[in-house]
Amino acid sequence: MEKIITLNNDGSLNVPDTPVIPYISGDGTGQDIWNAARLVLDAAVEKTYEGKKKIIFLEVLAGKTAFEKTGEWLPKETLETIKKHRVAIKGPLTTPVGEGMRSLNVAIRQELDLFACIRPVRYIKGVPSPCNDPQAINMTIFRENTEDLYKGIEWEAGTPEAKEAISFIREKSGQDLDENFTGIGIKPISIKNTKRLVKKAIQFAVDNKRPNVTLMHKGNIMKFTEGAFLKWGLEVGDEFSEIITEQELWDKFDGRVPEGKIILKSRIADNMFQQVLLRPEEYDVIACPNLNGDYISDLLAAMVGGLGLAPGANVGSECAVFEATHGTAPKYAGLDKVNPGSVILSGAMMLDHMGWQPAAELIRSAIQKAILNKRVTYDLARQIPGAIELKCSGFAEEICACMD
Ligand code: NAP
Repeated sequence: MEKIITLNNDGSLNVPDTPVIPYISGDGTGQDIWNAARLVLDAAVEKTYEGKKKIIFLEVLAGKTAFEKTGEWLPKETLETIKKHRVAIKGPLTTPVGEGMRSLNVAIRQELDLFACIRPVRYIKGVPSPCNDPQAINMTIFRENTEDLYKGIEWEAGTPEAKEAISFIREKSGQDLDENFTGIGIKPISIKNTKRLVKKAIQFAVDNKRPNVTLMHKGNIMKFTEGAFLKWGLEVGDEFSEIITEQELWDKFDGRVPEGKIILKSRIADNMFQQVLLRPEEYDVIACPNLNGDYISDLLAAMVGGLGLAPGANVGSECAVFEATHGTAPKYAGLDKVNPGSVILSGAMMLDHMGWQPAAELIRSAIQKAILNKRVTYDLARQIPGAIELKCSGFAEEICACMD
């Protein structure tokens, strides 16, 4: 019988054997990817639990399909259903550039208060990488998911709102901005959202015995937003007995990490980009404001095979929505071509989150085998000499075959 996942008093999940999980298939390539991902998720659960457990997937609408069927891009019912079921999975949704509605993805994250975007980046053997030592790449990004860029406070150049903001800025700061030809964007970063994000990142490092957490910021230039992120992040570090800062490491321990301690590092964002490329082994968990997290996610994804293999989770205290890092890749829509690996791996993260780790592990090892067999989608095939290019659906079938 179908059942609903519930939340225990301590925040952990109570997962029945046949949980209902809402899904949004997504725009563009979303439908192809979702069909492929569902095949793999169902097969992994079936093979692992031999019929004793099964996910009952429930479609909820968002994006183009929702608009065509209901006249709304993000029906209230979709958010209510996700809230009620606690765990959901989604494909990518289109956001127009420079005009039109604000992002539905952002709306979902904000409405459900999914404050942490968690993106693990790990090298899979056999995947082409532009780095010399890709095996060293094993990082988990914690990107703040509700403010900074995502607040979307902007006024177009020449509008009364932009002019009013410019007049306020002129009065308060003396900055002389051209009031007719200057667009205005505001970047809010708060103590509450910073602290809960950094706390989650550090707790993850503690729970998983990871050696360090880096606060990635641009606090040298934006002192009261990105600089405050660093200050408040360090304050969170003080609350954990496991944490020592890099400064303390040298001042008190002569650079030798004491048993059981986790190093809290701080890096300015531009420096961080070159450091993760040149010395990936020195970075482990990364906590950052929204925009920095957006950029570094795609860079790190490229270091381990590209967006086709980059999973993610948007997690709050009440529910979690699992989704790929990439977008709708519209030029490939309907071609059954793109790599479904990112949504499949996001599904594996979802199974971990539900406590169904053996099924998640089966998926990860089957993807590893398919890649070593060199039977992959176009994005990997064009980089792996001698590879056979499979369609999106074909790659999913290959992964299922590799579960035997
Ligand atoms: P994108 O959809 O991520 O695609 C950029 C490029 O990444 C593609 O052209 C392709 O590279 C590669 N790629 C993406 N997904 C892939 C996959 N599954 N397998 C293999 N390669 C893949 O980024 P975009 O073109 O900038 O954005 C398109 C739309 O998606 C926009 O409306 C954007 O707002 C939206 N978006 C949505 C989400 C979300 O729903 N969470 C996230 C990001 C963007 P090649 O051209 O080299 O083959």
